[in-house]
Amino acid sequence: MKQIPTVQLLDGTSIPQLGYGTYQVDPAETFELVRTALELGHRHIDTAALYANEEGVGRAIKESGIPRDEVYVTTKVWNDRHHEVPQAMAESLERLGLDHVDLYLVHWPAPVVGDYRTAWQELIKLREQGLTTSIGVSNFAISHLDQIIADTDVVPVINQVELHPTFPQTELVAHHTKLGIVTEAWAPLGKGADLDGEVVGSIASRIGATPAQVVLAWHLAKGYVVFPKSANPKRIVENFDLDGVSLTDDDISAIDTLDTGNRQGADPETATF
Ligand code: NAD
Repeated sequence: MKQIPTVQLLDGTSIPQLGYGTYQVDPAETFELVRTALELGHRHIDTAALYANEEGVGRAIKESGIPRDEVYVTTKVWNDRHHEVPQAMAESLERLGLDHVDLYLVHWPAPVVGDYRTAWQELIKLREQGLTTSIGVSNFAISHLDQIIADTDVVPVINQVELHPTFPQTELVAHHTKLGIVTEAWAPLGKGADLDGEVVGSIASRIGATPAQVVLAWHLAKGYVVFPKSANPKRIVENFDLDGVSLTDDDISAIDTLDTGNRQGADPETATF
């Protein structure tokens, strides 16, 4: 079995650096796709209450026969449950068929419609109760991170944010580094949009890899945790098969220059959902 690198978290635990993401994975296909990912060797699955596919994720883990402590499971509380976090967590665990998750995240700060400060205090309690091993956040800007840390003195172990070569979030990542927060990159491939450029294409041709593999190797070299999503079994294999994909320092520097501010998702400061 291929060895997946792990990243240390502030709370002393560690997380597999490469996983399988399930956003927009059809609930009806989730069981099969997660089963394929686990058979391939994935041991880290990223889901969320919003994705409506936690049930398929949990069933695939259970039926795989892989010991529970060998699969890292992340789920997230949605924006309309910031005042009902314990209930939202109980429902997620029920759908997953698990008694705890490895990582629970506040999905968005949702400053317009939600209450991320209260949600974070509730996550701290869930960790104390053993319902989640680690706690973190997602889509938090610097101001949101600073606010919850000022409120509670508890630093999230992870911030899961949109990040890819054309949107590298340089300032936010520097803030994470200062605080010891691990960066998880969602839309690591820019939802496919970062795979067509000249720089990535020429590195891919030179080293005999695909553009997706080059971009994923860049993330791993930067120390980010990634879980590319694909519903295509061939691409799931391609995105997992990164052992021989070796970038030089010059390759990494070249990809570092691709920032165009190409945000694919919402801006967390102004999102109205
Ligand atoms: P991604 O960058 O992983 O892009 C996925 C798309 O890229 C696929 O739909 C497919 O069209 C294409 N693709 C995948 N593999 C490819 C390959 N080898 N070659 C060519 N094209 C390929 O974007 P994503 O799905 O948005 O993000 C990954 C994961 O991040 C999600 O599944 C989810 O788990 C997480 N996520 C989190 C948030 C959040 O708010 N926290 C938001 C979006 C996604």
